[in-house]
Amino acid sequence: MTDCLFCKIIKGEIPCIKVYEDEKTIAFLDIMPTVEGHCLVLPKKHEETILKSSPEDIKAVFETIKTISPAIMKATNSQGLNLNININKQAGQAVMHTHVHLIPRKDNDGLKLWPQDKNYPKDKLEATAVKIKEYI
Ligand code: 5GP
Ligand code: ZN
Repeated sequence: MTDCLFCKIIKGEIPCIKVYEDEKTIAFLDIMPTVEGHCLVLPKKHEETILKSSPEDIKAVFETIKTISPAIMKATNSQGLNLNININKQAGQAVMHTHVHLIPRKDNDGLKLWPQDKNYPKDKLEATAVKIKEYI
């Protein structure tokens, strides 16, 4: 797609610091990393979100994630890893080309996950499940 930043990176029109590439995917360092080693893995085929990417492309992305994650963790001396996928702007997606964030994690690295409600009522959980299942 001509106007897409990540398509331009894939085509080599905009530089990136690449760590891996194969026929269907590419992985490069995020230009504004959360921590050292923060990588992005994306399918070369343009779709706006992972919900629109084909199962084959999603499979290829996760194969690449499996290939490079141990290397990222070893290189940054990290024992944990967050995979994060933002879908649409409400969830923080800024670049509308399917991608997965790989964020290596260490003990006491200061990063936090999102807050959770430890006292959420069970009847509300059940009502939500009913609504979701109606749409599946
Ligand atoms: P999103 O918020 O869409 O899930 O994540 C997009 C990511 O792309 C952001 O973390 C941002 O730092 C990164 N990014 C934006 N522009 C560039 C760029 O030109 N090169 C690289 N390597 N990363 C970029
Ligand atoms: Zn694109």
